[in-house]
Order: sequence, then structure tokens, then C-alpha cells
Amino acid sequence: MDLDSIEVHEQTVIVHLHATPLTAACPRCATAGSRVHSRDPRTIADVAFGGRSRALKLLVRKWICPEASCSQHIFASRFPEVVQCYARMTDRLIKALQSTGVITNGADATQIASSFSVPTTAKTIIRRVLHLPLPSEGSVQKVGIDEWAWKKGQHYGTILVDREKRRVVPWLADRSVEPSQAWLRKHAEMDLVSRDRGKICREAATEGAPQAKQAVDRFHLQKNFAEALEQFFRKQERALKTATQRSAGKTRSAARMEMPEKIAQERRARHRQRVRSHKRIGKLYREGYYTEQIAQLVGVSSRSIDRALEQQAAPPPRRRSRTSSIVDPSLSSLASRWNQGCHNAAQLYEEMVAASDRRARGARLRCGFTPFVPQEYAPSRNRRSSGTNLLRPEALRS
Ligand SMILES: [Zn+2]
Repeated sequence: MDLDSIEVHEQTVIVHLHATPLTAACPRCATAGSRVHSRDPRTIADVAFGGRSRALKLLVRKWICPEASCSQHIFASRFPEVVQCYARMTDRLIKALQSTGVITNGADATQIASSFSVPTTAKTIIRRVLHLPLPSEGSVQKVGIDEWAWKKGQHYGTILVDREKRRVVPWLADRSVEPSQAWLRKHAEMDLVSRDRGKICREAATEGAPQAKQAVDRFHLQKNFAEALEQFFRKQERALKTATQRSAGKTRSAARMEMPEKIAQERRARHRQRVRSHKRIGKLYREGYYTEQIAQLVGVSSRSIDRALEQQAAPPPRRRSRTSSIVDPSLSSLASRWNQGCHNAAQLYEEMVAASDRRARGARLRCGFTPFVPQEYAPSRNRRSSGTNLLRPEALRS
């Protein structure tokens, strides 16, 4: 190339050049052509000069291929030692941007290039860096294998890292077993595979590098440990809560005030459900249904129906108390019977149940329930006589 002229502007230097060869070889058939078709200017960015950005204005000849059978009828002169085909930057400028990009990153490299009067963008630098060939893997003795996300939750690949050199060896496009196995088989020198506990990595390591030891890597070890701890403490939530309250000297009411909103909402919802059930039980009973039928319709036990009918008002919100017991209402009578000399547990139980039934019956009569019973639901002779839930009010009054 010959130099024609140099233009110096405030921020730019433009160097005008033209190609000198009188012949050029066709890039397709390699036949040398000497017939010039045309001349085209080509603008190429170059490294900065004297604090100004530099551009090469290159006048390029276009040649006619002399080979009639060649499909490349016209071709341009090429300058592989300066600039590549179709490139808009000289090789030395591309190398400078790649070096800066590899050492820093796209944004920082852009700023550095700008300070050297080479205007460019982060995208351009990253694109140039991605054109660089990957360094050869060489010998890999200790490798870490894990998955990585193209798009989290949707598409995953596999990453393998040389743990001694601390660099990624290959990126595999998917996370199936076969590609990882194939890569591991190529490295017979491998003596350690560090992986997670997943099936894919385990199978890939077992089949692909059977000679290597396998170990769970520190990240997954910590992750699994944290998950196990979380699971354990979730199971011990009640004990922890009690211990915390004791150490803080809090009362039960104070602890209840600190109840999470979600749990409080759930409790309120359960209470509303109990109120609805209570109203329905009363309605069904007034319509004449038996306890068993109501229990079946509402989906609760007959005992719950009895308790609901005992209470005229809707049930209040349930206060959980570990000291309360279903035996509480009968405690005084039980103590009295015990002191009278009745120490037979079965007999005491029968008496307690009978007393409870009497209370329920009395409450129902006080409530003024006068149920209507359809003929098909009339009580049979075989029904239990001990329970009140199958007795008609007329029978109870007699
Ligand atoms: Zn040709």
C-alpha cells in the first residue's frame, strides 16, 4: 500500500492509502487476475495517534476473475496482514480492545478505550472478546461439575471447572448425563470429581470417570446442611417457642399477641367455620334430624353434635390451653365418688359419660328444640339406649 495523504482534524487523523499490486489472486479459484473492475474506498478504524482517533481510507481495487468457470466473477484485494475481510477495524485495534476487555469488562474497557481516543461500545468489546478462541483445556486432574441456567427454571446446561487452575473448562449446552460423561472420559488423568448430590452429576461422574474419587463440594455441603437444620428447627418450632418465652419471661397472652398474621388469619377462618357449623347443626336439629344424621351431613362426630347442641350461643374463638381437659367438668364428681370408695375406673367412666349425657339432654330441652322426625328416620329397637343422641324428646320427657 502507498500513502496518498494525511488529514489532521481536531479529533481525528485520516490516512489515505491505496493498494499497489498490479494483480491479485481470486479467493475462490486462486487464479491471478489483472483486469481491474472498479475501485472502492474502504474506511477502517485504527489505533489512536497523537491523542486523536485514526481512520484509514483505503482505496481498494476490485478485480475480474479470469477463470470463466469460477463462480466468483469479481473480487476485492485483501490485506490479511492489516485488516480482515469485511472488518471495520484493523487487527491491532481489535487486539487492543480484546486485551482490555479480557482484563476488565465491557463497560470499563469502553471507558479506557475512550480515554485513548478510541470511541467504542461495551457490546462491541464483548463481541470481540467472544471471538477469541478458548484456551486449550490441557490436563485436568480435579474437576468440579454443576448445572448452570440458560434461563432459570426452564433451561439448564452443565459447567465443569478445573479446580486447580480455577477456570471453566467446558460449558455444555444441556445438563443431561451423556455430554458430561463424554467429556470426563477424555480425561483419564482425572483423580477427583467434586459434585452435588444430584442423580445427573453422580451418574456422569461414576460412568465418565470411574477412576476418580467423588466428593460433595463445599457449596452443596453447606446448602444441604442449612436445609437439614431448617427442617429440624421447623419440627422443633413449638419447643423453641416455649423456650424463648421462658427465657424472655413472657406470659402466654404476650406470646399470643406476637402470633404471625398468617396463623391468626387461619385461626379466624377456622372460627368462622365453627360458627357456621354450629348454626347449621341447630337448624338441622330444629328440622327434626337425629344426631347421627346431622353428624353425617355436617361431617363431624356425634359427640361434637352433642357438644354443639349443649351450647346455645355460637362457640367463642378457641383458646388453646394445655391444662384444660374433657374430664374437667366431671372432676369434682369424680373426686367425690373416689372419696366415697369407688376406685373402679370402668365404673367411674360409665358414670361420667352418663352425667355428661344428662347435661346435654337438659341443655337441649332448655334450648326449646322441638325437632320434627320423618317417619323413615324413626328409631329402631336395636339402637343404643345409653346414648341420648338417638332418643326422641318425648322419650326423654317420660
Ligand atoms: Zn476465481
